[in-house]
Amino acid sequence: MKTPAAFPTFPLRDAPGYGQPLAWSVPPDRNALETLSGAIWNVAKQTGQRPLVVLSTAGPLMALRSSLERHRPAKIPPQIAFLPEVMSLSDWLGSAPQSWTFPKVQTPIERWLAVYAALQAHPKLRAWFKAESEAGAWGLAQAIIAACDTLSSVVLSQPTLLLEPQQGGASSDGWLSLLEKLLEEAIEEAYPALARKVVDREAEVLLLFWRYLSDAGNPIVRKHLALAAYQEAAKKAQHARPFVWVQTADGLASERAVMQRFMDEYAVHAPVVDISLNWSDVGLWPEALSAGEAEAGQVSQAKQDAIHNAKAAYRGQWRLLSANRFEELAWMAAKSVEEHIISGKKNIALVAQDRLAARRTRALLARFGPALAIRDETGWKLSTTRAAAALHSWLSLIRAPKEGPSAADLLEFLQNPFVDIPAILGKDPQDCNGLIAELEDRLIAAQAHSGWESFYIAMEGVRYGTVFRQAPANPLLLELLQFVRGRSVQWRSKNVDVSQAYQQLQGDITAFGMATTLADDSAGKQLLDVLLTLEMPLQPNSIKSIQLRLSEWISLLSSAIEEASYQEDSKEAHANLSILPLSSTRLREFDAVVMVGCDENQLPAFSEPPLFFSEALNRLLHGSTIENEFKQQARDLSQLLVSCPAVDLLWQSKSANGEPIRAAAWIQRLQMALPKWQTETQTSCSGSVKRVGTSVRMDGASATPNAALPLPLSMSPSSYRTLRDCPYRYYVRSLLGLRKQHGFDEGIDASLAGQAIHAVLHQFFRALKTHEQTNLSAIAYGSDKRRAWMTQHLNQTSERIFARFIEGDERVLGVLRDWQKQIPSFIEWQLERESAGWRYLDGELHVGFDLPFTAEDGGLRMMRIEGYVDRIDTHIDSASAAVLDYKHQTVKKVRDRAASVLDDPQLLIYARAVTDADSNVPMQGRTVTDAEWVALKADIKNRHGSAERSVAVADLADTALQSMAQITEDVELLWARKTLNAFAPDSVCRYCESRGICRKGMW
Ligand code: SF4
Repeated sequence: MKTPAAFPTFPLRDAPGYGQPLAWSVPPDRNALETLSGAIWNVAKQTGQRPLVVLSTAGPLMALRSSLERHRPAKIPPQIAFLPEVMSLSDWLGSAPQSWTFPKVQTPIERWLAVYAALQAHPKLRAWFKAESEAGAWGLAQAIIAACDTLSSVVLSQPTLLLEPQQGGASSDGWLSLLEKLLEEAIEEAYPALARKVVDREAEVLLLFWRYLSDAGNPIVRKHLALAAYQEAAKKAQHARPFVWVQTADGLASERAVMQRFMDEYAVHAPVVDISLNWSDVGLWPEALSAGEAEAGQVSQAKQDAIHNAKAAYRGQWRLLSANRFEELAWMAAKSVEEHIISGKKNIALVAQDRLAARRTRALLARFGPALAIRDETGWKLSTTRAAAALHSWLSLIRAPKEGPSAADLLEFLQNPFVDIPAILGKDPQDCNGLIAELEDRLIAAQAHSGWESFYIAMEGVRYGTVFRQAPANPLLLELLQFVRGRSVQWRSKNVDVSQAYQQLQGDITAFGMATTLADDSAGKQLLDVLLTLEMPLQPNSIKSIQLRLSEWISLLSSAIEEASYQEDSKEAHANLSILPLSSTRLREFDAVVMVGCDENQLPAFSEPPLFFSEALNRLLHGSTIENEFKQQARDLSQLLVSCPAVDLLWQSKSANGEPIRAAAWIQRLQMALPKWQTETQTSCSGSVKRVGTSVRMDGASATPNAALPLPLSMSPSSYRTLRDCPYRYYVRSLLGLRKQHGFDEGIDASLAGQAIHAVLHQFFRALKTHEQTNLSAIAYGSDKRRAWMTQHLNQTSERIFARFIEGDERVLGVLRDWQKQIPSFIEWQLERESAGWRYLDGELHVGFDLPFTAEDGGLRMMRIEGYVDRIDTHIDSASAAVLDYKHQTVKKVRDRAASVLDDPQLLIYARAVTDADSNVPMQGRTVTDAEWVALKADIKNRHGSAERSVAVADLADTALQSMAQITEDVELLWARKTLNAFAPDSVCRYCESRGICRKGMW
C-alpha cells in the first residue's frame, strides 16, 4: 500500500493557489481515519484556528471525532486545543447563521398535504398513476415530491444561480429576494428545455407540480439559502474559520457542483480544504476505481490495478462461507459472531445485505443476553414497534362504525402496555388488577363480537332467563368502557381539519396516560416526535385549513409513521454488535465484520426504480442512476474488505426450491484473482447432535386418574353427556380442568341465538301467566283473542329482547327474522297443547337431586346432579306434570337426540329433579309423566299449520329408571378410578377441544 500524499501547505498571500480551495485526497484504507485526523489537525496548526469539518454523509461522524481525539497532537497552541468541530452536511445546513430569517420551510407533511390536495382535485391523475386507494395516493404524493426535489436540485445547481454576496446587500432580505428571482428565472429557462426532453404525460404532470412546489419554502431552496448565509457570514467575519469538506461518498453531481461553487466562494475569505477519497489503491474491481468508467484504453489498466489491489489487500483475513438453507445461514452467521467474541473482538458489525437472515441471526444471538449489546442501524421501521402498534390500536377504534368497534380491536387497545388504566380511572394500580382479563373473559363468554351495546350487555350481567347467569362486572369496567367510547365518538364526523385532528389526537394520548408511558419508552419517544411533525403552524391561509376525510387523515398519519425509522438505544456491554447496511460501514472501524447475503441476487442491492424518471433521464438530470449506485457499493465493499482486520462473507447457496445460487459476481472475480481464497461450506449447523430413537405405535389415548386427583361430587347433565360420549374427553375437561382458550367465533354464536330465544319465551310465558291471573276472560283458552294476544306479545317480546343484541351485532337481525317466521307455528303448537289440558307452570328453574353411589372404599356417597330446566307444565285434569327442553335445532336433530336418550339423559334428570323431596318447584304431589324436547327450528313450509315441533321421551318411567342405574354405574366406575379411554364418533371429535391432547388421527 502506498503512503498517502502528504498534506499540502496553504499558499501564502499572492502565491499561486491563494484564495482557492486546496484539493487533497485520502485512500479509504484501514489508516483512513488516522490520515484524515492528521490532515485536520494539520489545518488547525497551519491556520491557528479551530477548523469546521463537514462530512457529506453522517455515518463516519462519531468515528472521526474519536479518531481526532486519539490523534490529538502534543503541544498545540491553546486557541486550537479544542477538538475541531465535525458536523454532517444536514446538521451544518440546519444551523446556518440567521436561519430564523429564512422563509418558513415546508415540513414534509405540509408538502404531502399540498400535493395530496391537488391530487384529490384531479381524480384522473390518481387513475393514471394507479393510485386510487388512500395509501396509494399518499405514496404518489411522496414520489412526486421526490421527483420535484430532483428537478429543483438540477435547476439550482446551474451556474446562473451563483449568489454574489455583494448582490444581496447588507440585509438577509436582499439575498432572499435575489434567490427568489433567480429561481423564477431558472424555472422559466429550464422548464421548456425539460419539457422538450420529457414528452410524455407523466412528465407534463410532474412539471406542473414542480412549478407549484417550487417556492422559497422548498427544502432544496432552503439549503441554498443556508449556503448563502454561511458565505455572507464569512465575508463579514474578520477571520472566518477554515472549512474542511470531506466527500465521504460520491453523491449526486448536482449536489457536488453546488458544494464546489460554495467552496470556491468561501475560499476568498478563509482557508478551504476539499478532501475526497482516493480509490486507486483500494478499489478491488475496475468499477470501484475512478478509471473504471474511463475510456476503453484505460479499462485493462484498471483491471490490472484492481487485481494488484486485491492481492495486496488479501492477508487471509477474508472467509467465504456458504450455507444450504436459510436457517443454516443464520446459524452460521451467529456462530461467526460468537467466534469473534470468543477471540476477544469487542466491536463487531453484521452487514445486513440479507435483512431477513440478519434479523434471524439477531434472534439467535439473543441467547448471549446483556453480555452482547446489539444495535440495529438498518432502519427498523418505527411502524413495527410496540409503541406504533399501540397508537394504531387507537386509530382502529376511532375508525370503527358508529355502533362501536370490534371486541378484538377494543381489547387490543386496552391490553397494550402504554394505556395507563389506573390513570384513566383515577385508581390505585392494585384496584385495577385483572380488570382487562375480566373484560376479555366476559366479552368472550357473551360472544360480544362488536358494538358498544353488546359490550354493555356483557358487563351488566343482565339475566334474560338463561342468557347470563353471571353477577354484574366490576363497575370500573363500565366506567372504562364509557371513557373509551366518549373519546372515540369525538371522531365521529367524516371530515377532519388537519390542525384540529392533531390537537384531538394529542388530547387522546394524554387522556389515556400514553403521553407519559410513550415518553418513557425509546420507540415511544420517537413516535411522539413523528407526531409532532403533524402539527400544523397557525398561519392564516396555511395548509392547516385543509379538510380531509377521517380515513385519509389516518392514512397520512400511518404513512408518516411508516416513513420513520426506529433508532435503538445503545447499551454498554462486554461486546457490541452493530447490524447495519453496507453503506453505513463507510469510514468506520470494526474489529470484525460478518456480512450475510453475499449472493448474486442480493449483492449488489437493487433499489426500487423511481416512479417518474427513466435511467436515461436520471443521467441527464444528474440524478441517482443504477450505475452510480453499483459503483458506490463496489467502493463500500472494497473499503470494507481492505480496511477491516477480519471479514466473513456468508451466502445461501440453494434457494427455497433447491435451485443453486452463486456467490456475488464481485466475490467470484476476487476468487479468480486469489486462487488461495476458497469457499468454506458447512453442511449442518454447528453444534447439532444426531439423536436416535424408535417409535412405539399408539392404539389410542387413555388415562387412569391417579389417587391424588380429586374426583367430583357434582355433575351437570352436559358433563355427564361428555363422560358418556368420550371418557377421555371428560378426563381432560372435567378432571384436569383443561379448557381451550376461547376466542371470538367468526359467525354468530349459535348458543347465544338459542339463549336469546329462551329468554324471549321465558318472558312471554310469564307475561301470559300474569295476564291470565288478572284478565283471563280477555284471553280465554281456545279463543281467537288468545291467539291474537299471543301472536302480538310474542312478536313484541322478541323485538324488545333482540333489540339490544342487534345493536351490538347487526347480524343477529337474521336470527330474529328466522325466529319470527316460527312464531305462528309455535303459537299453534302451544294452543294445541293447552287444548290437551297442559298449562305453563314455570321455567328457567335450577333443579337437582343427590344420587347415592358406593365408592371404591365401600362407603356410600352422594353425587349432586343439577341443571336448569327450561319449562314445567302441569295438567288440568290429572296430577301429571311435564318437563320441556327447548332446542334451537330442527325436529330431525331432536329425534336423533331422543334415540340416544340414555347417553344424553338431560330430560330424565330434570324429570327426577323437579319431584325430588328437596325441590323448590311447587309440584304439589304431581308426578312427571311426560318429558319432551321442543324444536325451535321446526319445518314450517305450510306457514300456518301446526308443524311437528316436539318429541317426547318414550316410556318415560322405565327409561328414567334405566338411566339412573346407568348413571350410578358410571359414577361408581369413575370413583373406582378405572381407565378412561378415548373413543367417540367423528361427529363428536370434530368439535372436541381435547383433540390436541388425545391426538386422535395419530393412532
Ligand atoms: S377427539 Fe374424540 S376421541 Fe379424542 S378426546 Fe375428543 S372426543 Fe375423545
